[in-house]
Amino acid sequence: MSTIAFIGLGHMGGPMAANLVQAGHRVIGFDLVPAALEQARIDGLELADSAGQAAAAADVVITMLPNGKLVLDVYGEVLQAARPGTLFIDSSTIDVADAKAAAELAASAGHRALDAPVSGGVAGASAGTLAFMVGGGDEDFEAARPLLEIMGAKVVHCGGAGVGQAAKICNNMVLGISMIAVSEAFVLGEKLGLSHQAFFDVASNASAQCWSLTSYCPVPGPVPTSPANNDYEPGFATALMRKDLGLAANALRVNGIDGRLGLLAAQIYEQFGEQHADRDFSAIVTDIRHRSEE
Ligand code: NAD
Repeated sequence: MSTIAFIGLGHMGGPMAANLVQAGHRVIGFDLVPAALEQARIDGLELADSAGQAAAAADVVITMLPNGKLVLDVYGEVLQAARPGTLFIDSSTIDVADAKAAAELAASAGHRALDAPVSGGVAGASAGTLAFMVGGGDEDFEAARPLLEIMGAKVVHCGGAGVGQAAKICNNMVLGISMIAVSEAFVLGEKLGLSHQAFFDVASNASAQCWSLTSYCPVPGPVPTSPANNDYEPGFATALMRKDLGLAANALRVNGIDGRLGLLAAQIYEQFGEQHADRDFSAIVTDIRHRSEE
Protein backbone atom coordinates (compact mmCIF):
# COMPACT_ATOMS: atom_id res chain seq x y z
CA MET A 1 0.00 0.00 0.00
CA SER A 2 1.27 3.47 -0.88
CA THR A 3 0.40 6.79 0.70
CA ILE A 4 -0.60 9.05 -2.16
CA ALA A 5 -1.19 12.81 -2.09
CA PHE A 6 -3.74 13.71 -4.77
CA ILE A 7 -3.92 17.40 -5.62
CA GLY A 8 -6.72 18.57 -7.91
CA LEU A 9 -9.92 16.60 -7.30
CA GLY A 10 -12.06 17.92 -10.17
CA HIS A 11 -13.89 16.07 -12.95
CA MET A 12 -10.88 13.85 -13.64
CA GLY A 13 -8.88 13.87 -10.41
CA GLY A 14 -11.87 13.07 -8.20
CA PRO A 15 -12.70 9.70 -9.75
CA MET A 16 -9.03 8.83 -10.34
CA ALA A 17 -8.30 9.32 -6.64
CA ALA A 18 -11.43 7.34 -5.72
CA ASN A 19 -10.14 4.39 -7.77
CA LEU A 20 -6.84 4.45 -5.85
CA VAL A 21 -8.79 4.32 -2.58
CA GLN A 22 -10.88 1.43 -3.92
CA ALA A 23 -7.65 -0.44 -4.70
CA GLY A 24 -6.60 -0.17 -1.05
CA HIS A 25 -4.21 2.80 -1.06
CA ARG A 26 -4.18 5.58 1.49
CA VAL A 27 -5.00 8.75 -0.44
CA ILE A 28 -4.70 12.24 1.05
CA GLY A 29 -6.54 14.76 -1.09
CA PHE A 30 -6.39 18.50 -1.53
CA ASP A 31 -8.41 20.88 -3.70
CA LEU A 32 -9.40 24.52 -3.41
CA VAL A 33 -13.11 23.83 -3.95
CA PRO A 34 -15.18 22.68 -0.94
CA ALA A 35 -17.57 20.58 -3.08
CA ALA A 36 -14.64 18.62 -4.52
CA LEU A 37 -13.31 18.00 -1.00
CA GLU A 38 -16.71 16.84 0.21
CA GLN A 39 -17.03 14.34 -2.64
CA ALA A 40 -13.48 13.15 -1.92
CA ARG A 41 -14.37 12.56 1.71
CA ILE A 42 -17.39 10.50 0.62
CA ASP A 43 -15.07 8.53 -1.69
CA GLY A 44 -12.86 7.60 1.24
CA LEU A 45 -9.96 10.05 0.90
CA GLU A 46 -8.34 11.71 3.89
CA LEU A 47 -8.38 15.48 3.47
CA ALA A 48 -5.46 17.86 3.93
CA ASP A 49 -5.56 21.59 4.70
CA SER A 50 -3.00 22.40 2.01
CA ALA A 51 -1.16 20.78 -0.88
CA GLY A 52 2.02 20.87 1.19
CA GLN A 53 0.40 19.08 4.11
CA ALA A 54 -0.86 16.33 1.77
CA ALA A 55 2.58 15.93 0.17
CA ALA A 56 4.48 15.84 3.47
CA ALA A 57 2.95 12.48 4.39
CA ALA A 58 3.13 10.84 0.95
CA ASP A 59 5.35 8.45 -1.03
CA VAL A 60 3.73 9.61 -4.28
CA VAL A 61 2.22 12.98 -5.21
CA ILE A 62 -0.25 13.05 -8.12
CA THR A 63 -1.42 16.37 -9.58
CA MET A 64 -4.47 16.76 -11.87
CA LEU A 65 -4.76 20.50 -12.42
CA PRO A 66 -6.16 22.80 -15.11
CA ASN A 67 -2.91 24.19 -16.56
CA GLY A 68 0.89 24.35 -16.46
CA LYS A 69 1.11 27.55 -14.45
CA LEU A 70 -0.90 25.98 -11.64
CA VAL A 71 1.21 22.82 -11.76
CA LEU A 72 4.40 24.88 -11.40
CA ASP A 73 2.82 26.97 -8.61
CA VAL A 74 1.75 23.85 -6.72
CA TYR A 75 5.18 22.23 -7.26
CA GLY A 76 6.70 25.39 -5.78
CA GLU A 77 4.78 24.66 -2.59
CA VAL A 78 4.90 20.89 -2.37
CA LEU A 79 8.47 20.08 -3.41
CA GLN A 80 9.81 21.64 -0.22
CA ALA A 81 7.23 19.90 1.95
CA ALA A 82 7.72 16.38 0.54
CA ARG A 83 10.17 13.82 1.87
CA PRO A 84 13.33 13.37 -0.27
CA GLY A 85 12.85 10.86 -3.10
CA THR A 86 9.06 11.31 -3.34
CA LEU A 87 7.68 10.31 -6.73
CA PHE A 88 5.77 13.16 -8.44
CA ILE A 89 3.31 12.25 -11.19
CA ASP A 90 1.63 15.10 -13.06
CA SER A 91 -1.37 13.91 -15.07
CA SER A 92 -2.62 17.37 -16.07
CA THR A 93 -2.45 18.29 -19.76
CA ILE A 94 0.18 21.04 -19.93
CA ASP A 95 2.80 22.53 -22.21
CA VAL A 96 5.83 20.32 -22.92
CA ALA A 97 8.14 23.10 -21.70
CA ASP A 98 6.20 23.37 -18.42
CA ALA A 99 6.36 19.59 -17.98
CA LYS A 100 10.14 19.65 -18.45
CA ALA A 101 10.42 22.58 -16.02
CA ALA A 102 8.33 20.71 -13.44
CA ALA A 103 10.55 17.61 -13.78
CA GLU A 104 13.71 19.74 -13.39
CA LEU A 105 12.31 21.47 -10.31
CA ALA A 106 11.44 18.12 -8.77
CA ALA A 107 14.87 16.66 -9.53
CA SER A 108 16.70 19.66 -8.11
CA ALA A 109 14.66 19.31 -4.90
CA GLY A 110 15.81 15.67 -4.64
CA HIS A 111 12.62 14.04 -5.95
CA ARG A 112 11.59 11.83 -8.89
CA ALA A 113 9.10 13.02 -11.49
CA LEU A 114 6.97 11.83 -14.40
CA ASP A 115 4.57 13.57 -16.75
CA ALA A 116 1.62 11.23 -17.29
CA PRO A 117 -1.24 12.94 -19.14
CA VAL A 118 -4.31 10.93 -19.99
CA SER A 119 -6.98 10.43 -22.57
CA GLY A 120 -10.35 8.79 -22.00
CA GLY A 121 -12.25 11.65 -20.37
CA VAL A 122 -14.41 11.60 -17.27
CA ALA A 123 -15.96 8.25 -18.23
CA GLY A 124 -12.49 6.68 -18.44
CA ALA A 125 -11.45 8.29 -15.16
CA SER A 126 -14.51 6.83 -13.41
CA ALA A 127 -14.18 3.38 -14.96
CA GLY A 128 -10.39 3.21 -14.43
CA THR A 129 -9.84 2.80 -18.16
CA LEU A 130 -7.76 5.89 -18.97
CA ALA A 131 -4.84 5.77 -21.38
CA PHE A 132 -1.64 7.14 -19.79
CA MET A 133 1.19 8.59 -21.88
CA VAL A 134 4.24 8.79 -19.68
CA GLY A 135 7.46 10.79 -19.87
CA GLY A 136 10.38 10.24 -17.50
CA GLY A 137 13.03 7.74 -16.46
CA ASP A 138 12.68 3.94 -16.70
CA GLU A 139 12.88 3.24 -12.95
CA ASP A 140 10.40 5.96 -12.10
CA PHE A 141 8.05 4.69 -14.76
CA GLU A 142 8.23 1.16 -13.32
CA ALA A 143 7.58 2.54 -9.84
CA ALA A 144 4.51 4.41 -11.06
CA ARG A 145 3.13 1.68 -13.31
CA PRO A 146 1.11 -0.24 -10.66
CA LEU A 147 -0.71 2.96 -9.66
CA LEU A 148 -1.30 4.04 -13.24
CA GLU A 149 -2.69 0.59 -14.04
CA ILE A 150 -5.32 1.05 -11.32
CA MET A 151 -6.51 4.28 -12.95
CA GLY A 152 -5.99 3.24 -16.56
CA ALA A 153 -6.33 0.40 -19.02
CA LYS A 154 -3.37 1.39 -21.21
CA VAL A 155 -0.04 2.74 -19.96
CA VAL A 156 2.66 3.68 -22.49
CA HIS A 157 6.16 4.87 -21.61
CA CYS A 158 6.78 7.39 -24.39
CA GLY A 159 10.27 8.67 -23.50
CA GLY A 160 12.02 11.14 -21.21
CA ALA A 161 10.64 14.16 -19.35
CA GLY A 162 7.94 16.01 -21.30
CA VAL A 163 7.51 13.28 -23.92
CA GLY A 164 4.24 12.07 -22.39
CA GLN A 165 2.85 15.56 -22.94
CA ALA A 166 4.28 15.51 -26.47
CA ALA A 167 2.28 12.32 -27.20
CA LYS A 168 -0.87 13.89 -25.79
CA ILE A 169 -0.72 17.08 -27.87
CA CYS A 170 0.33 15.24 -31.05
CA ASN A 171 -2.60 12.84 -30.66
CA ASN A 172 -5.10 15.60 -29.97
CA MET A 173 -3.77 17.70 -32.85
CA VAL A 174 -4.61 14.83 -35.21
CA LEU A 175 -7.99 14.46 -33.52
CA GLY A 176 -8.86 18.15 -33.94
CA ILE A 177 -7.73 18.22 -37.58
CA SER A 178 -9.53 14.97 -38.43
CA MET A 179 -12.79 16.12 -36.81
CA ILE A 180 -12.74 19.29 -38.92
CA ALA A 181 -11.92 17.27 -42.06
CA VAL A 182 -14.73 14.76 -41.49
CA SER A 183 -17.17 17.59 -40.71
CA GLU A 184 -16.27 19.48 -43.88
CA ALA A 185 -16.85 16.30 -45.88
CA PHE A 186 -20.32 15.77 -44.37
CA VAL A 187 -21.34 19.38 -45.10
CA LEU A 188 -19.97 19.23 -48.65
CA GLY A 189 -21.84 15.94 -49.13
CA GLU A 190 -25.07 17.62 -47.97
CA LYS A 191 -24.68 20.24 -50.71
CA LEU A 192 -23.94 17.57 -53.30
CA GLY A 193 -26.94 15.40 -52.44
CA LEU A 194 -24.92 12.72 -50.59
CA SER A 195 -26.71 11.40 -47.50
CA HIS A 196 -24.89 11.14 -44.18
CA GLN A 197 -25.43 7.39 -44.06
CA ALA A 198 -24.22 6.81 -47.63
CA PHE A 199 -21.05 8.83 -47.01
CA PHE A 200 -20.49 7.00 -43.73
CA ASP A 201 -20.98 3.59 -45.36
CA VAL A 202 -18.42 4.43 -48.05
CA ALA A 203 -15.83 6.34 -46.01
CA SER A 204 -15.86 4.06 -42.96
CA ASN A 205 -14.70 1.25 -45.26
CA ALA A 206 -12.42 3.37 -47.42
CA SER A 207 -9.31 5.51 -47.08
CA ALA A 208 -11.10 8.31 -45.13
CA GLN A 209 -11.71 5.90 -42.26
CA CYS A 210 -10.68 7.42 -38.91
CA TRP A 211 -11.83 7.64 -35.26
CA SER A 212 -13.57 10.99 -35.79
CA LEU A 213 -15.77 9.28 -38.36
CA THR A 214 -16.30 5.76 -37.08
CA SER A 215 -16.33 6.23 -33.27
CA TYR A 216 -17.35 9.84 -32.85
CA CYS A 217 -19.30 10.66 -36.01
CA PRO A 218 -20.17 14.40 -35.92
CA VAL A 219 -23.63 13.98 -37.48
CA PRO A 220 -26.49 12.07 -35.82
CA GLY A 221 -27.40 8.63 -37.10
CA PRO A 222 -24.49 6.52 -38.28
CA VAL A 223 -22.86 6.04 -34.82
CA PRO A 224 -25.67 6.04 -32.24
CA THR A 225 -23.33 6.61 -29.26
CA SER A 226 -21.70 9.77 -30.63
CA PRO A 227 -22.52 13.14 -28.96
CA ALA A 228 -24.18 14.31 -32.19
CA ASN A 229 -27.13 12.10 -31.18
CA ASN A 230 -27.41 13.92 -27.86
CA ASP A 231 -27.45 17.53 -29.06
CA TYR A 232 -23.63 17.67 -28.73
CA GLU A 233 -23.53 17.29 -24.96
CA PRO A 234 -19.89 16.50 -24.15
CA GLY A 235 -18.20 14.00 -24.44
CA PHE A 236 -15.10 16.03 -24.97
CA ALA A 237 -15.91 19.70 -24.53
CA THR A 238 -14.78 22.27 -27.08
CA ALA A 239 -13.02 24.14 -24.24
CA LEU A 240 -10.68 21.17 -23.75
CA MET A 241 -10.01 20.71 -27.47
CA ARG A 242 -9.32 24.44 -27.73
CA LYS A 243 -6.83 24.18 -24.88
CA ASP A 244 -5.07 21.12 -26.32
CA LEU A 245 -4.83 22.61 -29.82
CA GLY A 246 -3.47 25.81 -28.25
CA LEU A 247 -0.71 23.73 -26.65
CA ALA A 248 -0.06 21.96 -29.97
CA ALA A 249 0.05 25.26 -31.88
CA ASN A 250 2.49 26.68 -29.37
CA ALA A 251 4.70 23.60 -29.70
CA LEU A 252 4.58 23.87 -33.53
CA ARG A 253 5.71 27.49 -33.35
CA VAL A 254 8.40 27.01 -30.72
CA ASN A 255 9.88 24.08 -32.64
CA GLY A 256 9.69 25.70 -36.08
CA ILE A 257 7.39 23.04 -37.56
CA ASP A 258 5.51 23.83 -40.77
CA GLY A 259 2.26 22.64 -39.18
CA ARG A 260 -0.27 24.63 -41.13
CA LEU A 261 -3.22 22.34 -40.43
CA GLY A 262 -2.46 22.19 -36.73
CA LEU A 263 -2.28 25.99 -36.54
CA LEU A 264 -5.49 26.37 -38.55
CA ALA A 265 -7.32 23.79 -36.41
CA ALA A 266 -6.25 25.71 -33.30
CA GLN A 267 -7.61 28.92 -34.84
CA ILE A 268 -10.90 27.28 -35.87
CA TYR A 269 -11.49 25.85 -32.38
CA GLU A 270 -10.38 29.12 -30.77
CA GLN A 271 -13.17 30.93 -32.64
CA PHE A 272 -15.74 28.19 -32.11
CA GLY A 273 -14.92 28.04 -28.40
CA GLU A 274 -15.72 31.72 -27.88
CA GLN A 275 -19.44 30.88 -28.08
CA HIS A 276 -19.58 27.11 -27.69
CA ALA A 277 -16.99 26.15 -25.09
CA ASP A 278 -19.43 23.80 -23.34
CA ARG A 279 -20.56 21.90 -26.43
CA ASP A 280 -18.89 18.74 -27.61
CA PHE A 281 -16.02 19.46 -30.00
CA SER A 282 -17.76 17.48 -32.77
CA ALA A 283 -20.35 20.31 -32.89
CA ILE A 284 -17.82 22.04 -35.15
CA VAL A 285 -19.88 20.48 -37.97
CA THR A 286 -22.77 22.80 -37.07
CA ASP A 287 -20.48 25.81 -37.35
CA ILE A 288 -19.15 24.71 -40.74
CA ARG A 289 -22.76 24.21 -41.95
CA HIS A 290 -23.83 27.58 -40.54
CA ARG A 291 -20.92 29.42 -42.15
CA SER A 292 -21.60 27.68 -45.46
CA GLU A 293 -25.14 29.06 -45.46
CA GLU A 294 -24.11 32.68 -44.85
P1 NAD B 1 -11.38 20.47 -13.38
O1 NAD B 1 -11.39 21.94 -13.54
O2 NAD B 1 -12.67 19.73 -13.22
O3 NAD B 1 -10.47 20.06 -12.10
C1 NAD B 1 -9.31 20.73 -11.74
C2 NAD B 1 -9.32 20.85 -10.22
O4 NAD B 1 -8.09 21.44 -9.80
C3 NAD B 1 -10.45 21.72 -9.67
O5 NAD B 1 -11.23 20.99 -8.75
C4 NAD B 1 -9.72 22.89 -9.03
O6 NAD B 1 -10.39 23.41 -7.89
C5 NAD B 1 -8.40 22.25 -8.67
N1 NAD B 1 -7.33 23.21 -8.43
C6 NAD B 1 -6.99 24.29 -9.15
N2 NAD B 1 -5.94 24.91 -8.60
C7 NAD B 1 -5.61 24.20 -7.50
C8 NAD B 1 -4.60 24.33 -6.52
N3 NAD B 1 -3.72 25.33 -6.53
N4 NAD B 1 -4.54 23.41 -5.54
C9 NAD B 1 -5.43 22.39 -5.48
N5 NAD B 1 -6.40 22.21 -6.40
C10 NAD B 1 -6.49 23.11 -7.39
O7 NAD B 1 -10.54 19.90 -14.62
P2 NAD B 1 -10.52 18.38 -15.15
O8 NAD B 1 -11.55 18.22 -16.22
O9 NAD B 1 -10.48 17.46 -13.99
O10 NAD B 1 -9.10 18.37 -15.90
C11 NAD B 1 -7.88 18.29 -15.18
C12 NAD B 1 -6.75 18.12 -16.19
O11 NAD B 1 -6.99 16.94 -16.96
C13 NAD B 1 -6.63 19.27 -17.17
O12 NAD B 1 -5.27 19.55 -17.38
C14 NAD B 1 -7.31 18.74 -18.43
O13 NAD B 1 -6.81 19.34 -19.59
C15 NAD B 1 -6.95 17.27 -18.34
N6 NAD B 1 -7.87 16.37 -19.05
C16 NAD B 1 -9.22 16.52 -18.90
C17 NAD B 1 -10.08 15.64 -19.56
C18 NAD B 1 -11.57 15.76 -19.42
O14 NAD B 1 -12.30 15.11 -20.19
N7 NAD B 1 -12.08 16.53 -18.47
C19 NAD B 1 -9.55 14.62 -20.38
C20 NAD B 1 -8.17 14.47 -20.48
C21 NAD B 1 -7.33 15.36 -19.81
